[in-house]
Amino acid sequence: MEMSYQSMKIAHQAREAEDLRTTLRRKSLLILIYHHLLGQGYMEAAAALDQETNGDTRKFEVCDNIDLEMVLMEYESYHYVKFQKNPKLIRRTAEPVENRFVKSGGVKRGPCSAGKRLPKINPSQRPQSGNGAKKATTSQNGSSVPPEISDFGLNVSSIRSGPAGDVSGDGATNRKERLLKPLSGFSGMNREMSDLAEVISRDIYLHSPNVRWEDIIGLEDAKRLVKEAVVYPIKYPELFTGILSPWKGLLLYGPPGTGKTLLAKAVATECKTTFFNISASSIVSKWRGDSEKLVRVLFLLARYHAPSTIFLDELESVMGKRGASNGGEHESSSRMKTELLVQMDGLVRSEELVFVLAASNLPWDLDHAVLRRLEKRIHVGLPSSAARQAMTSHWLPPLTSTRGVELRTELDYETLAKDMEGYSGSDIRLVCKEAAMRPVRKIFDVLEAHQHEDAPMPAIKLETVTTADFLEVIAHSKPSARNLTGRYTAWEREYESL
Ligand code: ADP
Repeated sequence: MEMSYQSMKIAHQAREAEDLRTTLRRKSLLILIYHHLLGQGYMEAAAALDQETNGDTRKFEVCDNIDLEMVLMEYESYHYVKFQKNPKLIRRTAEPVENRFVKSGGVKRGPCSAGKRLPKINPSQRPQSGNGAKKATTSQNGSSVPPEISDFGLNVSSIRSGPAGDVSGDGATNRKERLLKPLSGFSGMNREMSDLAEVISRDIYLHSPNVRWEDIIGLEDAKRLVKEAVVYPIKYPELFTGILSPWKGLLLYGPPGTGKTLLAKAVATECKTTFFNISASSIVSKWRGDSEKLVRVLFLLARYHAPSTIFLDELESVMGKRGASNGGEHESSSRMKTELLVQMDGLVRSEELVFVLAASNLPWDLDHAVLRRLEKRIHVGLPSSAARQAMTSHWLPPLTSTRGVELRTELDYETLAKDMEGYSGSDIRLVCKEAAMRPVRKIFDVLEAHQHEDAPMPAIKLETVTTADFLEVIAHSKPSARNLTGRYTAWEREYESL
């Protein structure tokens, strides 16, 4: 069948549009590559690429604010030319906010969501710490503040709270006020870096990590060493000069759940330092491409807000022996490692009071390059028998009363401590919680049955928790790190500094 003039015209336009799209796609790809090379410092490669495109790539910059509506309109007209009909666009239907929150486990993800508000959490509903859960802390003025979980795994707390520090109930309010000093004081930062600095600072909580030395049970040696290494140099800087100039890098190592994070928080609380709390694994997982820049900006910020402590948790996840776990490591993660080492070297040379406190559960996996920079190494071991006893009586005293509900215990703390040999502080907390749960569990049926009746709620009386109950819980639990004890002491012998 002979093609009409009209349909030939349409076919020609479609071909032209297709060609144009291919050219544009190729060009934008080249522009992206050119800017990526520049950003990573590969100047020669970038220049060569630019030359090959006759200086075309240089004329464009990468923008992140393309008008989506224009893109859609362009796409619609292209689609119409090609298929003689408009495209049908689909989008995910809106979900109720609560559902979204429940699905994501209550933790916001991705830097993009940083500006969104967290749903308010009633202080009484906040989860308590333990088993790795972060505790909702109480600020100095008594108001409850959100747990220190930020969307991109990077938590920055400061205890220099002023009047603006009252962020009661909602972590998203007063974001601007959380900055300790205006960031305009920074010089030599490009836009990208100051954006990153803003992102980091946005999550400064103007409240104390709120852990006092006396909140940490046992660990007397570790506390003394941490005080000597970090606390006293901050308190009495005039004493720590010359040969006594303070260690800048400190490694807290030992089984998980033994109080390493608590020690770092106690330093920040007691010394009133700005506290940057970063889980190393999340630097890699959430900041892949940007992790190197993030580290750079983080150290800049720490210096700017000095005295500061940077707490790097799970250090082995980023500073493991090179290439040990996954064969060839990702290039960006290797650049990030190098950046971290460079920044740590920078601290040693500077006079500023910025300390890196790193924590690791698997010190033998650490790269030697990073170990050299963490000159002071402190073993945070499993609790002694006395500490286990103190912990149990702390978490399950003979009588606790919350909101009119009394929980009584009759426990032989000494026997329990003996039976919990090899348990970490966090394990013991879990066992106490489980033991306290037993009598509560028994009244659920009564409460549930009561829901359907009109009669007033019966007075709640919980059964006393006995030693036998507790021992039964112990029998069903397992300490998380018992098998590794020998390995820590062997490593300690080999690597611990004085
Ligand atoms: P990690 O060594 O893995 O950093 P954390 O310091 O986060 O362990 O401890 C986890 C939780 O276990 C703490 O929030 C606390 O409830 C409890 N805990 C562990 N060790 C101690 C301790 N020595 N004193 C008081 N609580 C402890």
